Amino acid sequence: MSVRRIAVIGAGTMGHGIAHAAIAAGYETAMFDVSAAALQKGRAAIEAIVAKAVELGKATAVDADGMLRRLATTGNLEDAVADADMVIEAAPERIDIKIALFADLERVAPQRAVIATNTSALSATELAGRLANPSRVAGMHFFNPVHKMKLIEIVQALESAPATLQAIEEVASRMGKETVLVRESPGFITTRVNASIGNEAFYMLMEGVASARDIDKALKLGLNHPMGPFELVDLVGLDTRLSILEYLHRSMGEKYRPCPLLAQYVKAGRLGKKVGRGVYEY
Ligand code: NAD
Repeated sequence: MSVRRIAVIGAGTMGHGIAHAAIAAGYETAMFDVSAAALQKGRAAIEAIVAKAVELGKATAVDADGMLRRLATTGNLEDAVADADMVIEAAPERIDIKIALFADLERVAPQRAVIATNTSALSATELAGRLANPSRVAGMHFFNPVHKMKLIEIVQALESAPATLQAIEEVASRMGKETVLVRESPGFITTRVNASIGNEAFYMLMEGVASARDIDKALKLGLNHPMGPFELVDLVGLDTRLSILEYLHRSMGEKYRPCPLLAQYVKAGRLGKKVGRGVYEY
């Protein structure tokens, strides 16, 4: 199936980035959010990314015009998905919200539409189970910020059809992204490895093996990581990282038990850059 129209559900951090990637790739795109303020903010963020591309000479004014003309924003789900060939869901990471949304999509999205979820860790299979035809669902895990990050993890749910995975692959490729295919499993590839490295770093800090600065420096200069694990967790949010580890621990056992020091930082309100202090002070 050839995708021409994409509906993006959610205009937040990821939703607006995905909608930008879609218009930049030439797709007619509708972005939906339940919050009018989020829609407005999402549109402004897309306009800023497009303006920056023009400023840097990566796009012409004509390209920019075309991109923004391909973008519609709406607070009406039915309008957003009415003629969509693909729906990309980027609503908050809460299973109750996503389940309700999938039930609505079953009612209002065309039966032919592929439904991709950008969930970081939840089960696409569980969401697919809400639909009469679960084979049209799979995970399409983008990275933040979408316009800079090259990868998309394509997550194969239990019943994802080959045609569904292929449609996602084609859209990803037109967006200029590289893909990897993952069988659905908690944390996919990237979240699982990243959470493990971050947890180990907290254990080392707790054991007094080295300072946070030196652990970050060692991973950057010795292992060529672009960011140290503490710099990264401060960006991701310590609360977010803790809930990911709790989920991995629940679903895959002892190896993922969150480090007590991480839990303590969260209790202390040291949630990361977003609040001005995490492992480091900002
Ligand atoms: P966010 O909170 O920035 O945005 C979520 C948006 O969804 C908000 O604008 C909110 O108003 C809207 N929303 C709430 N209920 C809705 C509904 N029923 N229908 C439509 N929109 C609704 O969240 P985010 O960081 O963009 O995350 C979205 C998804 O992407 C989550 O599943 C998350 O796990 C995943 N994800 C996040 C990142 C990241 O770095 N932030 C990276 C990869 C994947």
